[in-house]
Amino acid sequence: MSSTAAPDVPLLINGRHFTGSSSKSAEVFNPSTGEVIARVQLCTADEAGAAVAAAAEALPGWGATPVVERARLMFRFLGLMENHFEELAALVTREHGKTLAESRAEVQRGVEMVEFACGVPSLINGETLSNIAPNVDAETNRHPVGVCVGITPYNFPNMVPLWMFPVAIVCGNTFILKPSEKVPLSAVRLGELLQQAGIPNGVFNVVHGDRSCVEALLTHPQVAAVSFVGSTPVAKSIYEIATSHGKRVQSAGGAKNHLIIMPDAELDQSIKALAASAYGCAGQRCMAGSVAVAVGQIGNVLVQGLCDHASNLRVGPSDGIEDVDMGPLIRRDHLERVAGYLDVAVQDGAEVALDGRRTFDGNGFLLGPSVVDHVEPAMRVAQEEIFGPLLSVVRAPNLEAALAVGAQCEYGNGASIFTQSGYAARHFKQHFNAGMIGINVGVPAPMAWFPFTGWNRSFFGDLHIQGKESIQFYTRQKMTLTRWFQSAAESYQDPVWKTSRSG
Ligand code: NAD
Repeated sequence: MSSTAAPDVPLLINGRHFTGSSSKSAEVFNPSTGEVIARVQLCTADEAGAAVAAAAEALPGWGATPVVERARLMFRFLGLMENHFEELAALVTREHGKTLAESRAEVQRGVEMVEFACGVPSLINGETLSNIAPNVDAETNRHPVGVCVGITPYNFPNMVPLWMFPVAIVCGNTFILKPSEKVPLSAVRLGELLQQAGIPNGVFNVVHGDRSCVEALLTHPQVAAVSFVGSTPVAKSIYEIATSHGKRVQSAGGAKNHLIIMPDAELDQSIKALAASAYGCAGQRCMAGSVAVAVGQIGNVLVQGLCDHASNLRVGPSDGIEDVDMGPLIRRDHLERVAGYLDVAVQDGAEVALDGRRTFDGNGFLLGPSVVDHVEPAMRVAQEEIFGPLLSVVRAPNLEAALAVGAQCEYGNGASIFTQSGYAARHFKQHFNAGMIGINVGVPAPMAWFPFTGWNRSFFGDLHIQGKESIQFYTRQKMTLTRWFQSAAESYQDPVWKTSRSG
């Protein structure tokens, strides 16, 4: 399909789908084939402003809607997601390129966020303390924050938007989603299902765009809160701009995750877990294992095992195809950037043990898995987020040295240890400088009920995404102190009061 024939991706503002009026647009690719499958207009500041106006207008009515009704709407949305599960997964594969199995896992994680949001009546309640002074009671209630904005990355087109808007909406807020312009189709489809579930106009809106659209949202006086997920430089800038404009912000950034393999690790299981962590979703996950640290004498056998395992992975186009283990990368320029790190590694003195660069049939953005050995902690491949199927192996004499490798890294999303020693695992859990820890688990990503606790330069803000922290983020508390005067009650002429007192 030529790019001129590609359909436009609509905006969703105030319940209406329409094509944006901007002269600036971006192409949406099918990474499996290299074809342009859609064109997305990058919103003007006026269009971003129209979405905020619609969300602001819908806010009083939606905020006043009883919480059980807001939860019921989310239950209807959940049912629609379940009915359309396969279609949603296929759409993720089409616009992102991850395998169908990976897309199903992504949509399942998204479904779990919606399930969590359905429980809002028992999550949003406040606290009470009676008789904190004579005849005085205290209580807190949670209120919506207002108009919320979500800006999402390309690597989870379905799940990351679902990290944000279901909880925001059930808490009584209205929402504007700005998905990645590389993968806007899943976000639009979720908006259609929300409309089918009966969401009132203006409560959920979708705009598309790049920096100028985002900045129009971040600086808009009627926006109260911003959730961002993406790379660290952008996460930091979003945090700074939005907080300086008085917004509440949670901003999740990039990562460089370490996998420590102790000499006593169960080797076959560990190699499978390492490979799944490093090469799943073609390495395009913020929780992907990126640096393996081989402790003691395990290095040679580990590298050999990783190369053997990775060489057997079936790499190919994933759209509509089940028998593939690793799909393409998002774009050709990203593929070239990832492959370029193999040259960088050699220039820095590391050794390429498995080179993923090879010729594939077709025009998909395909790159095989790579293993780079004898990496030193200060090298670029050990420090920078590569976001592709390349695993660096650092060798460390002992666990303390392995912890020191992690401590040199500016990020702090996830880290895992592979060992049979409870003491080593406990020591690692206590001391590794990252927010999400795995013990014999390659991808320690929390489920919806737990917060996504990135540390260091992997997160800017206070309240994380997911779990009860997300309820706190999307609500503000009001505390009420109540005192009723006994003297006034006793002189009050209400017969019911007198009756009940005397009776
Ligand atoms: P990105 O930072 O390039 O883009 C993320 C979003 O920000 C997109 O919607 C994009 O349109 C917008 N954007 C890009 N540049 C901008 C700018 N200068 N000003 C304002 N908005 C801008 O990220 P990406 O390449 O789409 O996604 C991959 C990154 O996301 C990786 O770094 C990955 O680690 C990170 N990520 C982090 C988490 C987490 O939970 N920490 C989860 C998923 C992805």
